[in-house]
Amino acid sequence: ESLLPADLLARLPETFVDHAAVTEGLTGNFLLFDLQDGSERFRVPPNTRIRVSRERLRRLLMDGLDILWSKTISDIDTTTPGAVTASFTDGTTATGTQLIGADGSRSRVRTFLAPSPANNVLPIRLLGTSVPYSSARCAPIRDLDPFFFQASDPATDAFFWFSFLSVPTDPAEDRVCQILVSWPFRKGFLGREEPVDTPATEERVAWMKEVTKGWVEPFRSIVADIPEGTDAKSLALEDWLPAEEGFDSRDGRVTLIGDAAHAMTMFRGEAANHGIADVACLVRELFAESDTNAPGPIDSLFNMKLSTVIAVVAAGSVASHQTKGKHHTIDYNKAPPNLSTLASNSLFETWRPKAHVLPPSGQIGDPCMHYTDPKTGLFHVGWLHGGAAGATTDDLVTYHDLNPNGSQFIVAGGVNDPIAVFDGSVIPKGIDGKPTLLYTSVSYLPIQWTIPYTRGSETQSLAVSYDGGRNFTKLHQGPAIPSAPFAVNVTGWRDPFVFQNAKLDSLLESSPQTWYNVISGGVQNEGPSQFLYRQHDPDFQYWEYLGEWWHEEANSTWGNGDWAGRWGFNFEVANIFSLDDKGYNADGEVFTTIGTEWSFEPIVPEVSDSRQMLWAAGNVTLQDGAVKFVPTMAGFLDWGTSAYAAAGKELPASSQASMKSNAPDRFITYLWLTGDFYATHDFPTPQQNWTGALLLPRELSVGTISNVVDNELSREADSWRVDSSNSGVLELVTMKQEIARETMAKLTSGKLVTEPSLALRSPGSVAFKHGPKSKFYVLKASLSFPASARGSDLRAGFEVLSSEFETTKIYYQFSNESIIIDRTNSSAASRTTDGISSRNESGKLRLFDVMEHGEERVETLELTIVVDNSIVEVHANGRFALSTWARSWYSASKGIRFIHEGEGEVKFENVTVHEGLFDAWPERSN
Ligand SMILES: Cc1cc2nc3c(=O)[nH]c(=O)nc-3n(C[C@H](O)[C@H](O)[C@H](O)COP(=O)(O)OP(=O)(O)OC[C@H]3O[C@@H](n4cnc5c(N)ncnc54)[C@H](O)[C@@H]3O)c2cc1C
Repeated sequence: ESLLPADLLARLPETFVDHAAVTEGLTGNFLLFDLQDGSERFRVPPNTRIRVSRERLRRLLMDGLDILWSKTISDIDTTTPGAVTASFTDGTTATGTQLIGADGSRSRVRTFLAPSPANNVLPIRLLGTSVPYSSARCAPIRDLDPFFFQASDPATDAFFWFSFLSVPTDPAEDRVCQILVSWPFRKGFLGREEPVDTPATEERVAWMKEVTKGWVEPFRSIVADIPEGTDAKSLALEDWLPAEEGFDSRDGRVTLIGDAAHAMTMFRGEAANHGIADVACLVRELFAESDTNAPGPIDSLFNMKLSTVIAVVAAGSVASHQTKGKHHTIDYNKAPPNLSTLASNSLFETWRPKAHVLPPSGQIGDPCMHYTDPKTGLFHVGWLHGGAAGATTDDLVTYHDLNPNGSQFIVAGGVNDPIAVFDGSVIPKGIDGKPTLLYTSVSYLPIQWTIPYTRGSETQSLAVSYDGGRNFTKLHQGPAIPSAPFAVNVTGWRDPFVFQNAKLDSLLESSPQTWYNVISGGVQNEGPSQFLYRQHDPDFQYWEYLGEWWHEEANSTWGNGDWAGRWGFNFEVANIFSLDDKGYNADGEVFTTIGTEWSFEPIVPEVSDSRQMLWAAGNVTLQDGAVKFVPTMAGFLDWGTSAYAAAGKELPASSQASMKSNAPDRFITYLWLTGDFYATHDFPTPQQNWTGALLLPRELSVGTISNVVDNELSREADSWRVDSSNSGVLELVTMKQEIARETMAKLTSGKLVTEPSLALRSPGSVAFKHGPKSKFYVLKASLSFPASARGSDLRAGFEVLSSEFETTKIYYQFSNESIIIDRTNSSAASRTTDGISSRNESGKLRLFDVMEHGEERVETLELTIVVDNSIVEVHANGRFALSTWARSWYSASKGIRFIHEGEGEVKFENVTVHEGLFDAWPERSN
């Protein structure tokens, strides 16, 4: 609106495709249908949008402009300082101070500025026609959507686009319909041995009908009714992205905008919109006041637009769904180039895990919104992903996307959440007995604990699913919890976690099985808090505020901070649940998992952001009428610096997964492993086309460590407590965490190779006799250490993903009771490419002195190391986890070695490797 003069803006309705629809207030639904069963798979929530005729908009925009037609640019000359001269093929020239190349997807201006200007051609073919259909023929189509819709065929990956190009007001006149059909250019499509290329002109319509003949009505006949002899045009599907360092702007005198700067496919229908946004940015920059040291308007435009555009081109390329990088060849036997110079999507498979949860492509954020559907017994696992998306599982092994292509079940854009959907949690039988989501609806950003909080930025809203979790429909009302507690100056107030708790019911005299919720956050200058609420009515419309049931002093620590990190300044993603020694029990000991946000001094507004993923157990009591949580022990849920935002849910014994494995009620949690260090690392994201994953599901319970010698080590209770003492021998209690039993059983069901036991007495390394042939396996081992190891320089463990070029060391180090993952030489790519961290990861695990057969010895280190390509999860003794990325580059980097440093004998026993892992997403690889 700001770009157009008032008179042209007033004439915008001239460009509308369907005046009647606009008058009716229709804005379209941007629907995506399934061509096999006709179901609606995706719907974009209402928003301000207008559908314009491209030709009519063009005519309007040209009004009053002096355009020189039929000029084809052939060269540019910037040898004169401060000037740029364009030459045209007709021999004329034009000189000015700035040249803006808006010459489309195959831009000539681009060839002067970018070293690799050629478009990336996608392995998809597309044919399109315009067909006049009568109003009566169009009526059932218009019932689907007044403007346009898309559809795709899960059986073949063919794609269908329909739009009304022109809708005359006189119903006697035909409407012009745009019909596009695309198909993957690959072997086996429709049973053809060879990929099918675009047919000759006269065979095109027949081929479109062939592609569509397996589709459900009314879609099939929209194509089948195209009259023979209709002209069908072929459209190349191509994209192009500038390199991250930009292109040569000739001292800020030449730039590209629109498709010339970022060609993208038409699947998401947003390329022209980006072109318009480019113009808005450029105009703003050209007329902005700036100091002399700031980059000029053209360079500023580039910096501003690049990150958005990278994400969008990548998403468009994924939307075209046949591009999983298989057509790119990269030599993993040679040193890597700077990976950010490679084509988009070319690294898709390089580091992709198999057994972990992640979307088909794109970025995964916090896990959240899990629940077991009481109707089906399926466990729904959710995650943030442009809104939130999810999958179901009946065995905690394989997952099935709720929506095709892993698309969202809720997206931002409503009245309550114009900016974003943040974490939430689900009451499985909520409003109308349906799964009901309470989530953070975001109206304003930035929000960060280091800056003043804008009230109203975060509210908590409700949405209900009526279709088995594939969509959550937002209630047409304001937020259920519209504002942070009165007069509390919060640092954050988000991620509501709903739960039931018998102890709270009795302390607060609530009716049994009342729902509560904690919202995570903190108070400015005071410290992090959990804000507690109680359900007030059966429809969850009102939540009674019960105060900060847990608050810690700003940046304080648990004990000396060794075992549970820092409480920080702001809590996030708190979960509350109760456990016993078997798993989840509403009457059990109360636990919480929390993300803490903290920082070293000096705190830099909007920049300081260190995070830790912790757990705590505690007592719940009434103090002056208010219920309080007081921790009794606390620890790390995962020590990895990229592991954060854990979200769990009780998985009842009646769930499909638990029935099959005969498991009791459990609490299952998933952590997020951020792939670009919370978007602060300059990772080659477009090349990989996915970012981050969830760690393997873990079962939490109350764990015991038995026969522990009563000494200083065991009495220094921090992430454990002394439960009982019997003649000098203690039983300790801590939080037990293990990979979920079904997941572990499946991980270890692959081919088993046992490595002979080994005792190493002196420093060195020994290669495995039967090393794995892939980068997908589980390594298990028991390591025993002598008593003399305590306080010594002894270290022992393994090298994995190892070759002459690279290696990742994982070892226990006695001097500071830590497990270390040494990544300094994990990835040859970290030496050529930004954003591939080589920082070491470490976490503390105390091996206690234990009594065994009447003798005192150091507790055995029981290691489980999961290597899922680039994800390495280290689990130890049922109470320790450290997970991170190790992005080995070379094909040869598959070896495993025993390692020993320092003094003292280490015995490696029960050493096994289960190779292969499972594919958590069988449907995606079809
Ligand atoms: C089927 C389809 C559907 C689409 N749907 C949508 C949609 O729903 N929403 C959306 O936002 N976008 C959509 N788009 C994308 C949109 O059409 C383009 O992003 C937009 O037209 C790009 O504008 P542009 O000005 O950058 O380039 P163009 O529109 O391509 O204009 C480039 C101009 O430069 C001229 N030119 C080229 N070379 C030279 C040269 N050497 N010298 C001089 N002049 C030259 C060309 O003649 C042309 O006039 C769709 C595209 C397609 C193909």
